[in-house]
Amino acid sequence: RAKAEGRGTYRVFASDMDEEAEERRVLESDLRQALADDALSLHYQPQVDGASGVLVGFEALVRWTHPTRGQIPPSVFVPLAEETGLIIALGDWVLRAACREAATWAPSLKVAVNLSPRQFQKPDLPETVLAVLAQTGLSPDRLELEVTESVIINDMARAISILRRLKGFGVRISMDDFGTGYASLATLQAFPFDKMKIDRSFVAQLGVDPQAAVIVRAVLSLGRSLRMGVVAEGVETAAQRRFLADEACGEMQGYLFGKPRPIGDYAAMLCLPEHAEDIAPRPARLAR
Ligand code: C2E
Ligand code: MG
Ligand code: MG
Ligand code: MG
Repeated sequence: RAKAEGRGTYRVFASDMDEEAEERRVLESDLRQALADDALSLHYQPQVDGASGVLVGFEALVRWTHPTRGQIPPSVFVPLAEETGLIIALGDWVLRAACREAATWAPSLKVAVNLSPRQFQKPDLPETVLAVLAQTGLSPDRLELEVTESVIINDMARAISILRRLKGFGVRISMDDFGTGYASLATLQAFPFDKMKIDRSFVAQLGVDPQAAVIVRAVLSLGRSLRMGVVAEGVETAAQRRFLADEACGEMQGYLFGKPRPIGDYAAMLCLPEHAEDIAPRPARLAR
């Protein structure tokens, strides 16, 4: 009896697995189609100077509206694209679209583009970036590439050499989601990062868990010592902003300043200097 039940259970489990695999195959082919149809889009989220609140640039974040399922979050389809190798085409598309867009903005504004570990396994990544910059006319010092700690883990020597070449063009490199991965202080020092982005999980705990303040202070001090800029992600409240500004955090990004949106929604902010002003709600600043 137990045996029969066991087998039954196994059968159900197996068909669940089949369903899941099938579901992934469908999603993968839909994503391939979306790429072919140019059906992906980018949203842009403001990044501001920590002290003044002045807009300094935007992070480009990829979006996919599935024809029948609606919005699929990048946390679902980016890992899928990573596993299937589609990330190379997706990453190229994102880079090109973001640079083309940023080339139309005021020259003081930068664009940050996320890169996946897989993109680092292609040795021609620097040439791809260079070609996109040339084709779009974006000045290299206006492009920031965001990479996570996992880029380092895979093949450290190769990753360093690729990052060096990119930096040689004048492109900036940020370490994304700092504090959530495996980067040791030694790897931080060995890598030519220009910036660290404090993961939003720490920012969210400011004012909630006293440990978060300790960690954020430590990262800011590390950034100063290593001469890297520090960006705080996920700033949602005036209190978080005040804490970070008091600790001299270089740049901030989060819903307080603006959610990721189609660039048209930010059109009024793209031609500085008329709009070079604090973009956060006024009361937040006066509350200091
Ligand atoms: P990320 O690069 O760390 O991007 C920041 C994420 O935090 C975005 O989620 C953004 O919408 C969200 N966020 C920003 N401010 C706040 C806030 O104040 N509160 C909260 N709760 N969330 C905030 P999103 O757009 O869903 O992207 C998730 C992740 O997907 C990104 O994390 C990035 O790792 C990946 N991703 C997005 N676009 C791309 C892309 O074009 N290429 C690659 N390789 N990865 C991408
Ligand atoms: Mg990012
Ligand atoms: Mg991040
Ligand atoms: Mg993140």
